[in-house]
Amino acid sequence: MRTSDEYLEDLRRMRQNIYMGGRPVQRDDSRIMPGVNVMKITFDMAQDPANSGLFTETSQYTGKKINRFCNVCDSVDDLLKKQKMIRTGTRLSGFCIQRCMGTDTINMLSVVTRDLDDATGKTEYYPRFLEFIKSYQERDLIAAAVQTDAKGDRGKRPHEQVDPDLHVRVVSQNRDGIVVRGAKEDITMASYCDELIVFPTRTLTRNEKQWAVAFAVPSDTENVHIINRASSPRERKILKAPLNTYGSSDALVVFDDTFVPWDRVFMCGEHEFGGRMALTFASSHRHSYCGCKPAVEDIIMGLIALTAEYYGVEGKHHIREKLAHLAGIAELIYAAGIAAAVESTRSASGTQVPASIYANVGRRLAGENTYNCWGMVADVAGGFPVTMPFEEDYFDPVTGPFISKYTVRNPDVSVEKMHRLQRTLSDYLSSSWAGVWQVGDVHGGGSPVMESIAILSTYDFEERKKVVKRLAGIQD
Ligand SMILES: Cc1cc2nc3c(=O)[nH]c(=O)nc-3n(C[C@H](O)[C@H](O)[C@H](O)COP(=O)(O)OP(=O)(O)OC[C@H]3O[C@@H](n4cnc5c(N)ncnc54)[C@H](O)[C@@H]3O)c2cc1C
Repeated sequence: MRTSDEYLEDLRRMRQNIYMGGRPVQRDDSRIMPGVNVMKITFDMAQDPANSGLFTETSQYTGKKINRFCNVCDSVDDLLKKQKMIRTGTRLSGFCIQRCMGTDTINMLSVVTRDLDDATGKTEYYPRFLEFIKSYQERDLIAAAVQTDAKGDRGKRPHEQVDPDLHVRVVSQNRDGIVVRGAKEDITMASYCDELIVFPTRTLTRNEKQWAVAFAVPSDTENVHIINRASSPRERKILKAPLNTYGSSDALVVFDDTFVPWDRVFMCGEHEFGGRMALTFASSHRHSYCGCKPAVEDIIMGLIALTAEYYGVEGKHHIREKLAHLAGIAELIYAAGIAAAVESTRSASGTQVPASIYANVGRRLAGENTYNCWGMVADVAGGFPVTMPFEEDYFDPVTGPFISKYTVRNPDVSVEKMHRLQRTLSDYLSSSWAGVWQVGDVHGGGSPVMESIAILSTYDFEERKKVVKRLAGIQD
C-alpha cells in the first residue's frame, strides 16, 4: 500500500495538463492541495494498524493486503465495510471523502465487462479488467469516475446533437487501440487522481455504437486536458482547524483525440451495455452515498447540538425535535445502505452488486433532505456566523476586546471556543465551498429524477394494486 507521501511524490512526477484560472498549474498547486489532503486521509487511515480490516482488505486476485478503496466487493460483508469506511472517512474530512468514486467504478467494471464477454462470446474485456485491477491494487491507485458527458441539448439523444462530440465517442480505431474525442463535466478528483476511468452516462441505442465506450487512461495522458475548479473552506490565518485544510476539485476533462491502447479499453461499440454500465455504477455509488450522507448528518447534528450548548439553548424543545428528526434521517439512509448490502446479488464475475431499490431510496432520502437539514443549522446558528467580523479583527487591539465582550452567549464558553464554532458554522453555511457541496449532495451520482427513474423502473406497483384489490374485494 502507498503512503500519503508517496502518493504526493507520484502526483508531482506527472505531466502538466491541468489548467486553472487562465494558466497551466502543477498538481500540488496550493488551491488543489486541500483535495489532495482528503486523499491523504484515505492512505493514512489504511496505514494505521488500528483501522486494519476497515480501511484495508485482502485482495481476492493476489492475496495481498490492499486499501479497501481499491477493493472489488465479493461479499455482503465487503459492502457493509465499504459503507462503514465511507462514513468514518467522511466524518474525518468534514465532507465528501471522494475516493469511493473510483471504488464504485472498478466494481462496475468487474460486473459489466464479464457480463459483456459472456453475452458476445468473443470479446476479452474481463481478462483485460483483471490485469488492470491487479496493477491498480498493487500500486494503490486513485481513479476518478469520469461519467457525466457534456450532453448538449438535454432533450436530445447523443446521435441527435448538432455536435457529435457532446458525448465522448470513438473517432477511429486500429490494431493498437482507439482514439476518443469529447468532454466530461464536473469530474471530482480529476486533478489529483492517478487514473481517469471513462464510461457512458446513459443508455444507448443501435445507432449510437460510437458513443458506447469505456476505458482507463493515466490522468496525465497526452491529449487529455483538465480544466479545474477548486473549492475549500476559507483559509485560516490564526485559528487553524482540520476542516480548513480540506477541499475538493472538480473539472471539465477534455479528450482531444486521445489515444487509448486496447489493453485499457473495456467496451467499444457494444451499445446494449452502455446503460448497464451507467446503472451498475449508479447502484454502487448510491450505496456509497448511504455511507457518506449519514456522516454529513452526523456533522449537522454535531453542529446543532454544540451550537445549542454554546448559545445556552440546549435541551429546548425545538432543538430536541430537530436532533430527533436528523437522527432519523441519518440512520434511515444508513439502514437503506445496510439493506442494499444484505439484499445484494452476486454477478457472474463474483462481484456483489448492491440492491438497486435500497441504494436508490437511501440516496433519494439524502438528496431531498439536503437543504432542509442545512436549513436547520441556519435556524440554530442565528445570523452572526454569516456576518461575523474577519478573523484578524478578533485579535486586533482596538476591535478585539469589543468582539470578545459582545460575542459571549453561554458565559461558561470561552471566546475562542465560540469564535471557532461560529467560524466553522460560517464555512458550512455561507462559503462558496459549502455551496458547491450542497449542490453536489443533490446531483452527485445522478440528479434526483434519475433516482426516481431507477426506483420506478424496478418497483412493482401492479403488485400493490393487487394487494388493494384483494382487500377491497375487487375481482377482475
Ligand atoms: C459537486 C459535484 C461533483 C460531481 N462529481 C462527478 C464525478 O466525479 N463524476 C461524474 O461523472 N459526474 C460528477 N458530477 C455530475 C453529476 O453526476 C451530474 O451533475 C448529475 O448527473 C446531473 O447531470 P447534469 O449536471 O448534467 O444536470 P442536467 O442533466 O443538466 O440536469 C438539469 C435538470 O434537467 C433535468 N433533465 C436533464 N435531462 C433531462 C431529460 N432528458 N428529461 C427530463 N429532464 C431532464 C434534470 O432532471 C435536472 O432537473 C458531479 C456533480 C457535482 C455537482
